[in-house]
Amino acid sequence: MCGIVGYIGDRDVASILLVGLERLSYRGYDSSGIAIMSDGELSCWKKEGKIHNLEQAIKPLNIQGSIGIGHTRWATHGAATEANAHPQVCSMNKTAIVHNGIIENYSSIKKKLTEEGHILRSQTDTEVIVHLIDRYLNGNLEDAVEKATHDLSGSFAIAVTSEKDPDKIVICRKGSPLIIGVGKNENFISSDIQAIVSHTKQVIYLEDDEIGIISKDAIDIRKMGGVKVTKDIHHITWDAEATEKAGYDHFMLKEINEQPAVIRRITSEHINKNNEVVFPGLKNSNIAKANRFIIQACGTSWHAGLI
Ligand code: GLU
Repeated sequence: MCGIVGYIGDRDVASILLVGLERLSYRGYDSSGIAIMSDGELSCWKKEGKIHNLEQAIKPLNIQGSIGIGHTRWATHGAATEANAHPQVCSMNKTAIVHNGIIENYSSIKKKLTEEGHILRSQTDTEVIVHLIDRYLNGNLEDAVEKATHDLSGSFAIAVTSEKDPDKIVICRKGSPLIIGVGKNENFISSDIQAIVSHTKQVIYLEDDEIGIISKDAIDIRKMGGVKVTKDIHHITWDAEATEKAGYDHFMLKEINEQPAVIRRITSEHINKNNEVVFPGLKNSNIAKANRFIIQACGTSWHAGLI
């Protein structure tokens, strides 16, 4: 599970996304990408490896735009390739999504979508979400996102933007964190305060099963099912450096306090409804055929390796 960042406003969207991605890079990643809406037209750039590769590709283009979403990917389904990097787009490249998490039932959805004539171009679980959204998109984007999420099982934090309903980013979460950074005539979204704290210290925490509709000068949040919710705006008192420690005095304390959430996330990703341990990403890999493993580790990871 890796990083999401998004921006809507009048500033240089490409550099806000790139800086945000850099700030998320401490989480580890294998590829990165951004999608930017410019005069109602969506374009997407992705690269394998370091964010620097993406930056090199984008810099000379001097991209102008008003809305953007970006992602650092840590592959769970499909290799770390450009095609599998996020944003993932629908068949006609009109809707783009970034996603953290795992969609457990993606292969049955993929089969259905393919039979319906959708052309899926990646090996990711994520791509099915954007095709579902695009299929349902016949009016506003938030309704389509909500309909699509009803079809999904698994964990996700998503951010979506579409030419079919421009001027907004729609976000939604179940099991993976997402926050909104509140600005003046501009707004931000991210999976991690780290990515946006240098721009705003006012944040809203999205909860599971909430949908956020983010435009330049408005933030609307509703529960799945349509009920509007009023959210508190929290003021972050730490600076960018302290944010790395998420408000804790030191990293060890942060790690200790993060353990329940980390364990919950990992078990929700790898233990299915029947209490079986599953590693969907390994299904088609050569590791499944190996008859000998060497686990190289020390300290805590040595103990984990023994188990
Ligand atoms: N499951 C998605 C993929 O493999 C998202 C991975 C992530 O959270 O970075 O593309």
